[in-house]
Amino acid sequence: MKILSVNAGSSSLKFQLYEMPEEKVLISGNFERIGIEGSFYTLKINGEKIKKELKLNNHEEAFKTLVEELKENKVVKDLDEIKGIGHRIVQGGDYFDKTVVIDEDVINKIDELSSLAPLHNPAAIIGIKAAKEVFPNALETAVFDTAFHQTMPEENYMYALPRAWYTDYKVRRYGAHGTSHKYVANRMNEILGRNNTKLITCHIGNGASISAVVNGKCLNTSMGLTPNAGLVMGTRCGDIDASIIPYIMEKANLTPKQVDTIINKESGFLGLSMRSSDARDIREGINQGDHNCILAQRIYVKRVVDYIAKYYVEMGGCDAIIFTAGVGENSVDTRKEILNELEVLGVKLDSEANKIAGQEKMISTEDSKIMCYVIPTNEELMIARDTLALINE
Ligand code: ADP
Repeated sequence: MKILSVNAGSSSLKFQLYEMPEEKVLISGNFERIGIEGSFYTLKINGEKIKKELKLNNHEEAFKTLVEELKENKVVKDLDEIKGIGHRIVQGGDYFDKTVVIDEDVINKIDELSSLAPLHNPAAIIGIKAAKEVFPNALETAVFDTAFHQTMPEENYMYALPRAWYTDYKVRRYGAHGTSHKYVANRMNEILGRNNTKLITCHIGNGASISAVVNGKCLNTSMGLTPNAGLVMGTRCGDIDASIIPYIMEKANLTPKQVDTIINKESGFLGLSMRSSDARDIREGINQGDHNCILAQRIYVKRVVDYIAKYYVEMGGCDAIIFTAGVGENSVDTRKEILNELEVLGVKLDSEANKIAGQEKMISTEDSKIMCYVIPTNEELMIARDTLALINE
């Protein structure tokens, strides 16, 4: 059967169509600038990439265009061949600890949580409604970025703030990238051939987070109420002293919205390096001896190491450290810098094995006390798997 994995943004729609349970990608693509001047879409089919410009007023038109392309490219004959549609949802609050079938109640809850993910949740609802119009017979599911982290104990998700902020305003740690952490943790357990494991999963891309996963369940994670907690990221600051915010608002006469933009879009690599948010540009700067880039990378690496060390202690040891996402999968140097600092825990990097990008591989030596792995993430496949499981129920 065919399952569509969908990630709707406010002006974009990414998708992959899978043949399940074979897990074969039949076609994938991205509709961009939906509702904006200059909309276009790209498709990838049989290794070939196609780009077309087309006026797309809304997400429904994007789905309809997708259907035409599926028929034209003979991927499907009849729409009803698509049995399920899995939607990626950023914020599920504490309502959802797993993937669910979408109904009115689910939509209302996603909507209610929009204040916690203002850019993402409303867009997801638009995607859900548009998909329902175009694929009325498919089962629609909601796959939450936060769901995997719902197993965290209270002591890990509560902040030391007035309790009323939690009860009245839902202020707590929710985490993000859960679908990715779950995917790589499951894969690592498959490789190890057991589920009773202690893993540290490092999803380090432009956005970045680390999780402690015990027996396949999340114990702790570095992102918080929002994705701007924990690690240094492309443009996000991650952990900072909370009092910096009111201090700088007063000193520099900034509004909450302005500060929010600065700490989310102008900080991290970009803020420190004054050059770029992209890890490759930072590396280029390092190679040119740019002090700001050297410092940015140093702080970035230290923060990752801090979290790994913290979770190592919290779990009482660790079987494997896993690297995934843009930097984790591709940056030989960053992995090396992180793992070299973990020698004190008995980590031994296999420098030759580490010289890989975008492929699954063990990168520690046989005698390393903690196994280290690169596992490319696949959130879309995880969405398709969860959707298939619900269809089979
Ligand atoms: P997002 O959070 O937007 O999904 P990605 O997971 O795609 O981000 O990661 C993007 C980051 O990965 C960028 O900082 C980019 O520089 C980095 N990256 C991609 N390829 C490489 C590479 N070959 N070497 C180093 N960094 C890389």
